Amino acid sequence: VRKFFVGGNWKCNGTAEEVKKIVTVLNEAEVPSEDVVEVVVSPPFVFLPVVKGLLRPDFQVAAQNCWVRRGGAFTGEISAEMLLNVGIPWVILGHSERRSLLNESNEFVGEKVGYALSLGLKVIACIGETLQQRESGSTMAVVAAQTKAIAAKVSYWDNVVLAYEPVWAIGTGKVATPVQAQEVHLELRKWLHDNVGAEVAASTRIIYGGSVTGANCKELAGQPDVDGFLVGGASLKPEFIDIIKSAT
Ligand code: 13P
Repeated sequence: VRKFFVGGNWKCNGTAEEVKKIVTVLNEAEVPSEDVVEVVVSPPFVFLPVVKGLLRPDFQVAAQNCWVRRGGAFTGEISAEMLLNVGIPWVILGHSERRSLLNESNEFVGEKVGYALSLGLKVIACIGETLQQRESGSTMAVVAAQTKAIAAKVSYWDNVVLAYEPVWAIGTGKVATPVQAQEVHLELRKWLHDNVGAEVAASTRIIYGGSVTGANCKELAGQPDVDGFLVGGASLKPEFIDIIKSAT
């Protein structure tokens, strides 16, 4: 049984005041219990401690990135050690915005995932094809290559959530159809089955991200291989609560 997982990626948004308001709304919400749905919100680094301090205990926090190995002379970076030191259990790695805007390669993302896991962080590892790649028919080849580079560095899959986020659906309002999402999630699960093992394939959460809203989440959540969501824009709004509720 794969517990439904809902992540809120706040990206590079918010002021201290706005962040506190979002947390207040989340704290007051009535949602299914943590036995049913795992909820993780990911504020920008500077707000992590305040959000962690104020957030209800049944929700968790994630960083949006971390450095690829042990910290040191890497100006501007935040290490995995630091996240653990301030009690942050999760990190998002390989988001498409970092892959495309900051040139993070498949191998670099894989290394980051391996290092973060080795210290005990839990990882939301992101993959996904561009519109051009989809239109040229290479969706599966692209996400398989991304997954392969991650899998090469993972020995313990319990602490990994795989987030399928087609780049063409991120921030565009063009959500993947339930059929499109299910198709890729099923292929990814087959890939895990064939390349990692049957148990890992059956137990690893594969979540969908890209223009998820309160209005479209229910139908996506009904797909057998969609185990939750990674939500961007809508995670900053009260509608995030409706998305959490789509777990049931
Ligand atoms: P949107 O939900 O804003 O499309 O963003 C998705 C995303 O990138 C989550 O990581």
